[in-house]
Amino acid sequence: MINAAAPAQSDPGADPRLAQAFDDDPAAASAAHTLRIVNSTPPIDLAGAEIAVRSLLIALGQDPDAEHLRQTPRRVAGAYAELLTPHDFDLTTFANDENYDQLVLACGIPFQSLCEHHLLPFHGVAHVGYLPDQRIVGLSKLARVLERFARGLQVQERLTQQVANCLQTHLHPKGVGVVIEAEHQCMSLRGVRAHGSRTLTSALHGHLRTDPAARQEFFALTRDR
Ligand code: ZN
Repeated sequence: MINAAAPAQSDPGADPRLAQAFDDDPAAASAAHTLRIVNSTPPIDLAGAEIAVRSLLIALGQDPDAEHLRQTPRRVAGAYAELLTPHDFDLTTFANDENYDQLVLACGIPFQSLCEHHLLPFHGVAHVGYLPDQRIVGLSKLARVLERFARGLQVQERLTQQVANCLQTHLHPKGVGVVIEAEHQCMSLRGVRAHGSRTLTSALHGHLRTDPAARQEFFALTRDR
């Protein structure tokens, strides 16, 4: 089963949780420009989370003082803290000196995130591409942007848009395309138990959204990857 969402339409606004620090030198147009993407979410209260997990176990009819569960609250708190803490990184762009004007596409980038409705993981792959204008970006940074937004409580639709918006805002390319395919454990382990089903979402900006040929090329390259 595939839930194909329509291409997301949104303003390429920055995530308000994203703190930024520029290290740009406007006099050096061809130099590398670095944007520090830092985690500005509130610090995690590990001790408080541990107490809450202990309470959850009791509410679920479990005995947190049993030998085999004694360390569970600490482990669960630590696991969620890790899954919800994005890493800082530098989004470095370079002048497009060669005037490369074709699609740059990173395919099959693996990721995992947490469904904000059930606190269960969803995981899959993302295809992230852009049509360069005056700047290009290191390919590994496409995966970094994805990971930055995946580390948090998410829905797949928002994750897809945030990756596209971030690249549109900071790279100013002629177009951006993001496709995410994911399996949600809240669908496969419980509820409808649709094991193996994938959900597809996409977000397009610029030429990849408005130019039918560019859009078709993007979807042809990302299909069945
Ligand atoms: Zn869910």
